[in-house]
Amino acid sequence: SVKPTILILGAGYGGMVTASKIAKQFGSNDANVTLISKHNYHYQTTWLHEPAAGTMDPDRTRMPISSVINTNKIKFVQDEVNEIKKEENKVVLKESGEMEYDYLVTALGAVPETFGVGGVFEHAFSKWTVNGVREIKEHIEYLFAKYNNEPEPRDDYLTFVVAGAGFTGMEFIGELSKRIPELCQSYDVPKSKVKMYVIEAAPTALPGFDPELVEYAMNLLEHRGVEFKINQPISEVNAEGVVLKDGEEIKSQTVVWATGVRGHPVIEQAGFENMRGRVKVERDLRAPGEDNIFIIGDCSLIINEETERPYPPTAQIAMQQAETVADNLLALLKGSELKEFKPDIKGTVASLGGKEAIGVVGNKKLYGTSANFMKKMIDNRYLWILGGAGLMLKRGKSPL
Ligand code: FAD
Ligand code: NAD
Repeated sequence: SVKPTILILGAGYGGMVTASKIAKQFGSNDANVTLISKHNYHYQTTWLHEPAAGTMDPDRTRMPISSVINTNKIKFVQDEVNEIKKEENKVVLKESGEMEYDYLVTALGAVPETFGVGGVFEHAFSKWTVNGVREIKEHIEYLFAKYNNEPEPRDDYLTFVVAGAGFTGMEFIGELSKRIPELCQSYDVPKSKVKMYVIEAAPTALPGFDPELVEYAMNLLEHRGVEFKINQPISEVNAEGVVLKDGEEIKSQTVVWATGVRGHPVIEQAGFENMRGRVKVERDLRAPGEDNIFIIGDCSLIINEETERPYPPTAQIAMQQAETVADNLLALLKGSELKEFKPDIKGTVASLGGKEAIGVVGNKKLYGTSANFMKKMIDNRYLWILGGAGLMLKRGKSPL
């Protein structure tokens, strides 16, 4: 009999863990499995605030897909997914045209959400990808280099605006605030000239997170020179900087956008019912009404039954979903019963630059070096799941 074809779209947390688990669990006669992704490398989105600020080499966040996935078992195709034709069981790729599938796993991740604020894509940095963050890093260094060579001082060269005090915005400013003294030193710039703003629409930074830890983070960052503007939505980004809802303007040549995410545009294009590009998947992680399409990671939406609100999209959930999807694909092939996905949220830990971090793990609050230790362990644990001890030792972070 002909082997069924499984396509996995996207080699991020969801796609990589699905592929690696299939490689381990499927027999060679079970299915033809192909992983399709834009680049021939996998990158760790959760590390990107570091290379964005220049505190880590961007190359450290990525690894060749063939170095972690057994490409004898899982075929890899480097291409961009432009379309899913779910009625025809086909995906349309940019270079290689159409590919047919019997089963599809969609794990294409997220794109920036602007909430309709104008000028973001033209004037702000909003791409949390390897190529996106490299541009932020180079841009910041270039402005430092340029500063002393202008006939008139340009304060907007040394004014950095972060839009959104969610985890991405806070982790990025944590890294940047840690790096500024070093940049000032290398580029002959007085530290007093540098301004860093974090602008948040909600009445607090990190809305929904433990208030004590939010205060800890804000105090720490303020000590490093960060100024918070809370409860002040950005209403426009333009060539000069940002305009706030109350009319205030902040002149800045570097606006880093981190106001949240929506699911990949291919989801909407394909005609799945969605909320901001995310599909509220069934308990077995299939799209409603589709018996052969799984959607995981930032393209999926799952309701937390305790709070009756969607879980925030995280790598933690994407990886756990991937494990369930690999099991459920095998169940479909064998005609056995599918599993229900139950997220097991271990906690949330965010780095703040240097050896600082905050987090809640179980019901324990962590901050400072213990939170930093935990954060590094979480980063290392992922490498362990993906490629075992070898990958963790080669690519992991020192927890001390
Ligand atoms: P991704 O991991 O983003 O992978 C998507 C993949 O699809 C990528 O490889 C991409 O190249 C590929 N792709 C995209 N478009 C196409 C296309 N058209 N065709 C082919 N391939 C395509 N979560 C946590 O749990 N803990 C954290 O500490 C944490 N820190 C974060 C820090 C930062 C700075 C950011 C930005 C996010 C962080 N997150 C964290 C969130 C986490 O990164 C995401 O929830 C997670 O990456 C989602 O996994 P995914 O598999 O859905 O998508
Ligand atoms: P987010 O949605 O968590 O935070 C975005 C913030 O931007 C919100 O506080 C929101 O009020 C604010 N905002 C929205 N519009 C605004 C405007 N016009 N002006 C000013 N502020 C505005 O998004 P994120 O930080 O990009 O994170 C995306 C996902 O990734 C989340 O699910 C998050 O939990 C996850 N993540 C986790 C970690 C971690 O665990 N360490 C780190 C980064 C991201």
